[in-house]
Amino acid sequence: GATIGILGGGQLGRMLAMAAAQLGYRCHIYAPEADSVAAEVAHSFTCAPWHDSEALIAFARGCDVITYEFENVPVAPLAALPADMLAPGTRALEVAQDRVREKRFIQEQGGRPADFAAIDHDSELAGAIDRIGVPGILKTRRDGYDGKGQWVVRRSEDAAGARIPESGCVYEAFVSFECEFSVILVRGRDGEVRFWDSAHNTHGEGILARSALPAPAIVGEQVEQARAMAKRVADALGYVGVLTLEFFATKQGPVFNEMAPRVHNSGHWTIEGATTCQFENHIRAICGLPLGATDSVSDTVTMTNLIGGDALDLGGHLSDDRNHVHLYGKAEAREGRKMGHITRIG
Ligand code: ATP
Ligand code: MG
Ligand code: MG
Repeated sequence: GATIGILGGGQLGRMLAMAAAQLGYRCHIYAPEADSVAAEVAHSFTCAPWHDSEALIAFARGCDVITYEFENVPVAPLAALPADMLAPGTRALEVAQDRVREKRFIQEQGGRPADFAAIDHDSELAGAIDRIGVPGILKTRRDGYDGKGQWVVRRSEDAAGARIPESGCVYEAFVSFECEFSVILVRGRDGEVRFWDSAHNTHGEGILARSALPAPAIVGEQVEQARAMAKRVADALGYVGVLTLEFFATKQGPVFNEMAPRVHNSGHWTIEGATTCQFENHIRAICGLPLGATDSVSDTVTMTNLIGGDALDLGGHLSDDRNHVHLYGKAEAREGRKMGHITRIG
């Protein structure tokens, strides 16, 4: 069988590698951290920094196609890879790595992010807060995930003395939303696009806690518009693979939050809850295979994340016959760390 290279060594890479194995592929993981839960289930592992172009070129020689499970892979070293080897490509990475660029790109595609202002220097923050108003959220432009690198600004005084990092921040209006949902699609090499049902996502302290179907009625009312936006984004990027856009459902329609050029935590329910899961369809897409059906197997599906110590009671989770339990094999159950998830159907 062919070999799929995966940049990034976390749980998304692990679940991609498991789906790839089912289709007879081998996976080769590339990640800078030695403890990789993806490498544990893969065929081989290159542990090297992102900027080690020799290691990257050697890695690519052993692969037939390369994908990523982490949107913050530095783009510059990827230029050393043979053209067309990477799916999705580098443009999706460039857009999704920078919150300001991402929001502008969405606007160009006709979408609506929350009001925002790019902040490059400390001196620009007060003016931006004046213009956008409070409450708002200050986010680092780059490298944030699971709500890290974000500060809620309730009163303009709250931001006094804030230090803007070198790579900048974005200040955005706090959206008063009815609920959150994501659009997850897969786009094949021939441009065919399929969508999974949109679940209702709930967060706790900036981390996804739960994704549940059916979503509230408002999601059903707004999902077609959100899907059309997501498809425009995928087409504009010539995207191949699974793409996720997060939305706020508001009384004024869907407001774009952010995108992830990869499989997504809010799609983990598809492993048991859809005919073909996001991981398998990503592998099918990048390998040029026919896409699988994305229908849900039930109207009612719930995925609950196991965060930190939640994962420790494996026996308890397994003693409930309704639970499909997934643990990612992470050694340390640190607070706020995604350790696994549980899916219930029906
Ligand atoms: P992820 O792990 O999804 O990549 P992230 O660190 O990139 O997370 P965001 O998606 O920007 O973070 O924000 C995390 C959560 O914080 C959102 O899902 C939402 O619940 C809340 N949030 C973020 N921005 C806003 C906003 N402008 N208005 C209201 N709530 C927001
Ligand atoms: Mg994010
Ligand atoms: Mg998010």
